[in-house]
Amino acid sequence: MSEWKKGDPMRISIDKIKDAKIVNCSCGGVMFSEKTMFKRLSAFISPSGKEELYPLQVIICDKCGKVPAELNPYDMVPEEYVATSIKLDNKITK
Ligand SMILES: [Zn+2]
Repeated sequence: MSEWKKGDPMRISIDKIKDAKIVNCSCGGVMFSEKTMFKRLSAFISPSGKEELYPLQVIICDKCGKVPAELNPYDMVPEEYVATSIKLDNKITK
């Protein structure tokens, strides 16, 4: 499992970003949207001692609506919503 991290855009040149591989979903999609998923915290584990909803930001593929495995930090997303595999060796055609 790899953790998705936001890089610091100020510390890397545009050319290096341009040469980097595009993350794509197993369906081929390259555009993603942020969605919110909620976990229900029981009174036993909730810091407030009451049942609470805990929001989690997840990234979904705009094409198939699933979460690429690479963008599923902590494996929180239910399996049926996770895209099977991710292609990292995609070729960028110019
Ligand atoms: Zn997809």
